Amino acid sequence: MRDLSAGPRVLLKRLRELMAEPLEPQERLDRIVRQIANNMVAEVCSCYVLRSDGVLELYATEGLNKDAVHLAQLKMGQGLVGTIAASAQPLNLSDAQAHPAFRYLPETGEEIYHSFLGVPILRAGRSLGVLVVQNKAQRNYREDEVEALETTAMVLAEMIATGELKKLTRPGLELDLTRPVSIEGDSYSEGIGLGHVVLHEPRIVVTNLLNEDADKEIRKLVEAIGSLRLSIDDMLSRREISMEGEHREVLETYRMFAHDQGWVRRMEEAIRNGLTAEAAVEKVQSDTKARMMRLTDPYLRERMHDFDDLANRLLRQLTGFSSQSMAEGLPTDAIIFARAMGAAELLDYPRGNVRGLVLEDGAVTSHIVIVAKAMGIAVVGQAAGAVALAENGDTAIIDGDDGKVHVRPVADLVKAYEEKVRLRARRQEQFRALRDVEPVTRDGKRIKLQMNAGLLVDLPQLSESGAEGIGLFRTELQFMISSTMPKADEQENFYRSVLKQAEGRPVTFRTLDIGGDKVLPYFRGHEEENPALGWRAIRLSLDRPGLLRTQLRALLKAAAGAELKMMLPMVTEVLEIRAVRELMQKEVQHLSKFGHQLPKKLQFGAMLEVPALLWQLDALMNEVDFVSVGSNDLFQFTMAVDRGNARVADRFDVLGKPFLRILRDIVRAGERNNTPVTLCGEIAGRPLSAMALMGIGFRSISMSPTAIGPIKAMLLALDVDRLAAGLNAALDDDAGLVSPRDLLVQFANDHEIPV
Ligand code: PEP
Ligand code: MG
Repeated sequence: MRDLSAGPRVLLKRLRELMAEPLEPQERLDRIVRQIANNMVAEVCSCYVLRSDGVLELYATEGLNKDAVHLAQLKMGQGLVGTIAASAQPLNLSDAQAHPAFRYLPETGEEIYHSFLGVPILRAGRSLGVLVVQNKAQRNYREDEVEALETTAMVLAEMIATGELKKLTRPGLELDLTRPVSIEGDSYSEGIGLGHVVLHEPRIVVTNLLNEDADKEIRKLVEAIGSLRLSIDDMLSRREISMEGEHREVLETYRMFAHDQGWVRRMEEAIRNGLTAEAAVEKVQSDTKARMMRLTDPYLRERMHDFDDLANRLLRQLTGFSSQSMAEGLPTDAIIFARAMGAAELLDYPRGNVRGLVLEDGAVTSHIVIVAKAMGIAVVGQAAGAVALAENGDTAIIDGDDGKVHVRPVADLVKAYEEKVRLRARRQEQFRALRDVEPVTRDGKRIKLQMNAGLLVDLPQLSESGAEGIGLFRTELQFMISSTMPKADEQENFYRSVLKQAEGRPVTFRTLDIGGDKVLPYFRGHEEENPALGWRAIRLSLDRPGLLRTQLRALLKAAAGAELKMMLPMVTEVLEIRAVRELMQKEVQHLSKFGHQLPKKLQFGAMLEVPALLWQLDALMNEVDFVSVGSNDLFQFTMAVDRGNARVADRFDVLGKPFLRILRDIVRAGERNNTPVTLCGEIAGRPLSAMALMGIGFRSISMSPTAIGPIKAMLLALDVDRLAAGLNAALDDDAGLVSPRDLLVQFANDHEIPV
């Protein structure tokens, strides 16, 4: 047999010529396998392509029975070819028939060939097919021959990926690359979007595969790696790194990979075998990815993502790709796929173009999710493997209601979802029609419906939803999406724009609620074992009075001449409120001393989120102008269940007796003390629980703006006094077995209340 190591360059040169010729796809493929067989002095060369039904079909052969083309097939995992595709690993055998996986296909006439070398045709670590050479004589193929065949397989991967082979596919069948996939994730933000995939970290499609001058390509590679290393060092030396979702640990891993000599050597070898620098990066990336995908250790799998990201960066460097050109080509119905992403990066996309966001990582309380929700974008998180399974421009459906993502969906599914979207739109239309209807219950009780907000992007929703005002403005969001601590004048300007855009409707600003799960990248406290019970919200503000005073001053100045409504998060003792009031007084004095105009009225409130306050209700009500129940935290602390931990968060019922009784006690304390009480947690936005709140006496609630319509529809059909009678009796009955939830559902059914 001829020495193959001299061969790959010659072979690739021939393949390049073949790719450029105006040939029909079958003819091109036939010539390619003939060329490979000749060059490798193999009696057989065959190409199998993976179909969407998981079958590997023989697409071309030199040496086997030609009649078997498009007939011979093996399932994924079946026979030698199926094993290679399933494992994404080459098989190099001197006696193929002796291998336990060998499967005899009589139509091919392959029984006379003993030695067998097969490699996967890979793209982004996924098997698209298998390329095989066979010889009669028993022999072992050398390492460099394996490498040469792998390099050649890249050319076929390109042919499959560009869709050229689609024309050879029998009607009714599809290639695997176009296979529809569904990914199960978690629902982070409701909504349904049909559109096209946009990879946030775009994968470069390498089209320039074969080099003319290996030395030149190696120089290009070395140069690009040099700048890549520098850019990583540079990012590591910056303080605000975690804003980009690029935490120090990840960057350290990047640095380690970027200096890995084995990686560089493998890429250089691929270039010597005839690939361009960028094709070499892609080949090694694909091989490595295929190998690492099988790892079960979650830590190592995570590192695979890091490696993949790094290789993508290198590819972008080599091809001079710019995100500018990407933004220009952004589809108007983009569904963004990202492994992880910073909130600021999402705001960089033109808002009208984004229909959904798919994250492989993320948590429902992460700030990107908060921002996406504020923008009304559907979000699915924890969508494992989504980025690798999708290609830029693929059709996709995001189902934020059920936490599902469908990539390249079949026509029937698209139709079903289009119908769903139409239904939603019709419902939205009905809710919109209620926008200017006064929220009065059937028995004539006027209910105050406000919305929660935290960013300027929320503000247009005020008039769109028909909310009376903002019952909770989470001021920490501005801090969370900023890469440095917002300065005093930035805060002031921000609050001023909020008030301006609210056009006279009341806005309740909550002072900074950071700590716990709300982390500021530039403000790191100590690692805490129990952050929810840790140094957060008002505790942190009182320990850092400078921070709080800056905010108070910004609020006072922004509301000059108007009414300022503000409240404090996570109060545990009434004394804490007094301490903030004193700081506030100092700020007021300071501002008047320097001739600043002050707000014409100040309303000072507290959030009720910590159960300890339940035993200080009268003292609390005497101390403040209003109380707002933060039911998310109050429930978490009352039931001792972490609100962000899916395993326990839904374990106990918010509509169970204990919690409803607590809420009712708060309302009664408000009535006793003549102190307005409102509630701004998530339960305010769900019709059934909002109905329960009305039943126990709430007359004011604040929720996400999209909930205003459904809640109003519920109220218009509700007879509160009637519900109150039944619900209060059930809550007072210690021995009673009827769950309040069942009672509420029954009541809604009996009275045709939309919940
Ligand atoms: C709450 O705890 O209910 C609340 C409204 O505050 P946040 O969700 O911001 O903690
Ligand atoms: Mg809270």
